[in-house]
Amino acid sequence: MKEVYTLEDLRTWSEVTAGIEPPLRLAVIGDPVAHSASPPMHNAALEKCGIAARYTRLHIKAEELGEALRSLPKLGFLGVNCTIPHKALALGLMDRVDDHARRIGVVNTVVVEGDQLVGFNTDGPGLVRAVRSEFGVDLRDLRVVVLGAGGGAGRAIAMQCGIEQCERLVLVNRTLDKARELAAELAPMFRAPRVYGPGDRLEVAPWEDGALRAQFEHADLIINCTSVGMKRADVSPLPSSILQPHLMIYDTIYTASRTKLMLAADEAGARSANGLSMLLHQGALAFEIWFDREAPLDVMKAALEQNAAAR
Ligand code: NAP
Repeated sequence: MKEVYTLEDLRTWSEVTAGIEPPLRLAVIGDPVAHSASPPMHNAALEKCGIAARYTRLHIKAEELGEALRSLPKLGFLGVNCTIPHKALALGLMDRVDDHARRIGVVNTVVVEGDQLVGFNTDGPGLVRAVRSEFGVDLRDLRVVVLGAGGGAGRAIAMQCGIEQCERLVLVNRTLDKARELAAELAPMFRAPRVYGPGDRLEVAPWEDGALRAQFEHADLIINCTSVGMKRADVSPLPSSILQPHLMIYDTIYTASRTKLMLAADEAGARSANGLSMLLHQGALAFEIWFDREAPLDVMKAALEQNAAAR
């Protein structure tokens, strides 16, 4: 069995996967995808629940996504997760999309229903649970900075901040126009006056040290939704010099137990967590959508921890 399959493999799926038991019927689709810890997490859950299916990785490029998704029903797939950079594109390739994913504009969970593809999004609700488990606080009570508000995860999380009516939201993105467009969409959700503090409830800030330092003084939680930090050679997306001890820093990246951003947070005396807890909770919610039963959270968490320790 391969660690990662490609579109070429999907084209000859029955030959490529002949003899694999239980059969590969779930996957994460991304580019890159080899880093994904979803397979060990979901395979542990499938085994625990006695479900005769395995979960694998599909390395699919953006231009291949349509063909890959369309091939899933006839290949016997039950569903897939979409990850970087496919979440927004996937929305337009669904036959149906649930209300939450439609509102958010990104799909991370696909259910195969007959020959139809149905899209959902569990990233935002997964993040809410992760923040509560890591820091013991509720997103709705926080002043939040979303770094990487132009990508799929950033969009899902910023939208969730709007749905939760968090105290304040600042959008930051390398390509500033994408953050501005998202802010325009979010504006109706942030019309009510905030409880305290200067500044508007919803702001867009340029990715410049001075501007960010000023924003961080009036923030509680920074969420890194960029892909900066995924590669070993990456530096922290934010220098420690602009971080402050009162901040909670959530890095959605989980490719290291202490990511570069978390090390910067340590230097600044700030609390931080990596994205493993979000992966766990968004995965548990996806499992519940696929199988209409409670996910074995403890088993999934243990599998993620074991996988992280083995890396
Ligand atoms: P995406 O749609 O491709 O978005 C990538 C984001 O990163 C964009 O905002 C992009 O900015 C920014 N970016 C990329 N390279 C950059 C650079 N060199 N400097 C500054 N910004 C840069 O990807 P995604 O699906 O949102 O995923 C983003 C990250 O979230 C990934 O690391 C992924 O692993 C993580 N994630 C984790 C979980 C979890 O469960 N823990 C779930 C979802 C996502 P531009 O708009 O300027 O291009």
